[in-house]
Amino acid sequence: MNPLKLHVVCVPLPAQGHINPMLKLAKLLHQSGFYITFVHTKFNFDRLMKSNGPNSLKGLPDFRFETISDGLPPENQRGIMDLPDLCITMPIDGLISFRGLIAKLVSSENVPPVSCIVSDGVMNFTYKVAEEFNIPEFKLFTPSGCGMLGYLNFDELQKRGYFPLKDEKNISDGYLETEVDWIPSMSGIRLKDFPTFFRTTNSSNTMFNYNRDSVNNAMKAKGIILNTFQELESEVLDAIKIKYPNLYPIGPLPLLYKNISSNSNNHLESIDFSLWKEDVNCMKWLDKKDKGSVVYVNFGSLVIMNTKQLREFAWGLANTKYFFLWVIRPNLVECGDEVLSNDEFVKEIENRGLILEWAPQEKVLGHSSIGGFLTHCGWNSMLESICEGVPMVCWPFFAEQQTNCFYACSKWGVGIEIESDVSREQVEGLVKELMGGVKGKEMKKRGVDWKHKAKAATTIGGSSYDNYNSLVLQLKILSG
Ligand code: UDP
Repeated sequence: MNPLKLHVVCVPLPAQGHINPMLKLAKLLHQSGFYITFVHTKFNFDRLMKSNGPNSLKGLPDFRFETISDGLPPENQRGIMDLPDLCITMPIDGLISFRGLIAKLVSSENVPPVSCIVSDGVMNFTYKVAEEFNIPEFKLFTPSGCGMLGYLNFDELQKRGYFPLKDEKNISDGYLETEVDWIPSMSGIRLKDFPTFFRTTNSSNTMFNYNRDSVNNAMKAKGIILNTFQELESEVLDAIKIKYPNLYPIGPLPLLYKNISSNSNNHLESIDFSLWKEDVNCMKWLDKKDKGSVVYVNFGSLVIMNTKQLREFAWGLANTKYFFLWVIRPNLVECGDEVLSNDEFVKEIENRGLILEWAPQEKVLGHSSIGGFLTHCGWNSMLESICEGVPMVCWPFFAEQQTNCFYACSKWGVGIEIESDVSREQVEGLVKELMGGVKGKEMKKRGVDWKHKAKAATTIGGSSYDNYNSLVLQLKILSG
């Protein structure tokens, strides 16, 4: 342990879509010479041990792991339905546990003094500990810039009477189509494109209040880091900068990491925090397919769907006659998934469809056989797709995925949307369009343009590359 190294404590929200970008940032900072303590929840740490083996969490002498409590009982599976509970327990139990951890680290002679905390934008209690110990804090917001600007307008949605809804029926009666004309940097946006947590008649809704408080509390941070790039979201980022001048858009993190880590440490490279075991055999299957011939289907780590939706996706995909690689997490379907073992379906997709539980997604999207992505519009997934120039069919599920979908379809030209009440005819039609239609070809072209822009942003002289260097400098100044 080098006592002179600056020590950064990284604290992600304990969900896959938050852990992945934080890990990339932590690895980057390690490469830039920082000592890293990466904080998992005890539950996730144990789960990672089980799925990836103890070696994955051995770390390095200057890249270590610690755990805190999330306050939920051990038997709780921490699925999407448990998020509101997590938003209640983390700021109480997580806070106590995190305070204990920082107290331990600052008094330890085995680690360098803690110079900075980088915590997730929605771990909105860590600032209290940072203040108590007089440690500067930075925030990593893992949503898109447009998603963050959506959350930043939650106060305004409330002031203007859009939250809470007057009637539950407003969710389906066309009301959400209302255009929002009071945010100049989000022209054309409708209520339905905002992060979904305002869609409730309950004025004390936990998720609405938690997300609104998180963006407001971020004002206390020394800087805000975003996993996006200036060229993709310039209008939105300029609008956020008015509120938070110390904004560091350094994405796409997968590309920045790839570009900066050329002579990296192999052990660090192999650290991966997949909460499910990756099925790498799919890469061999993809190797045998022609360029651009496979549809990749993945709904991320939190989406749940019902049996009917699964059936419509299944038959819609089968009816396209395209090859498809479909990730079906063990807890993706609410109740029955019989369609997948139905003889007629199995016969129909024989030699064409590969179904697995968890994929090495970045590698899959980077494979030349992938022609399109059917996605739930989680920001990491969408950005990983943009990095590889892969166009998308969008089925946004919740949170800011609706905002990402609006931008992908209406502004960036890389997506087409499927209705939430999905039908097999729509799946078939839109996937065929994506893979071989005129619109699909246009989207592919736009996708390749964005891929080049993303690459340029993350190489020497690019916007994200420069922002990352300014961030490192700022961390060093504030820590020194
Ligand atoms: N992911 C993966 N394999 C899978 C599914 C997802 O590696 O089979 C990764 C994906 O690459 C992304 C993250 O899990 O980095 C999911 O984050 P995202 O923001 O897309 O969605 P969320 O899971 O938060 O809804």
